[in-house]
Amino acid sequence: MEHVTGRFAPSPSGPLHLGNLACALMAYLSARSQGGRFLLRIEDLDRQRCPRTWSEMALRDLEALGLEWDAPPIWQSERDEIYRGYLDILQKKGAVYPCFCTRAEIMQASLAPNRGDTQRVYPGTCRYLPEEVRAEKMRTQRYAWRLRVPDREIGFTDRVQGEYVENLSRDCGDFVVRRSDGLFAYQLAVVVDDALSGVTEVVRGCDILSATPRQIYLAQLLGFPSPTYAHIPLLTDANGRRLAKRDHDVGFAVLRERMGIPRLRGLLGYAMGIWPRDAEASMQELIDAFSWEHVHRDDVRLPC
Ligand code: GLU
Repeated sequence: MEHVTGRFAPSPSGPLHLGNLACALMAYLSARSQGGRFLLRIEDLDRQRCPRTWSEMALRDLEALGLEWDAPPIWQSERDEIYRGYLDILQKKGAVYPCFCTRAEIMQASLAPNRGDTQRVYPGTCRYLPEEVRAEKMRTQRYAWRLRVPDREIGFTDRVQGEYVENLSRDCGDFVVRRSDGLFAYQLAVVVDDALSGVTEVVRGCDILSATPRQIYLAQLLGFPSPTYAHIPLLTDANGRRLAKRDHDVGFAVLRERMGIPRLRGLLGYAMGIWPRDAEASMQELIDAFSWEHVHRDDVRLPC
């Protein structure tokens, strides 16, 4: 049997909330229930938004929840050289091009919004610039690097959400792999890091489902195998609103104080569908009870 390696990859731009913890727990349970390895990666590419203090707090919270990782955590903020090397490969392949568009220009020129309501399909403005215009602009303007996407469907079978297919050209458009401020984009970093760490399964929130075809395509271009994917439901508050890092009342510290770790673990397992009641659970009990078949598909309203 292929050796399983799972991971949790938070972007600590604030304290982890219950949804993040549920995700960490599910990634952990899936890996451990198959006798696999489990890794942690701090996605702090944007050092401004993700200061070290939040990341360190996230590590402490995950440890307190009972997670153990099999290698020192990877910090994306320390890996610019690695991402640069892969951008270089994409540049040599002619798979990327510099993009000079501002956000406002893209909003104005973009085609119909794709499935997510915040994201626009990039209209391809800079894809076909004449070479001399491009060279001149590169001398005088800031630019991002965009990956040329094909006009074909890329699909996969998600363990929780089932079949998911996108035509990258129609649903997303050429996407950014390095931003104009110099930061490497999440899409590139996630694909490179998962591959270099030997990750075989990705468990994460359903809000990232639509990024997956882009990542599969990028992995193909770079010659990496694609991991399996499980996109788990998001947690909402009593009003059906998705949890966010600003929701301190459902932050780890408050809940830990209020209910204790075993009860909190049980609550997360229950919310996800793998634990039969909102009651205490040890990590081993959850590992034994874990099965993807039981995991809920739709957003879950928290009982507290
Ligand atoms: N860092 C991303 C987040 O916290 C998750 C990335 C991933 O799991 O692929 O939303």
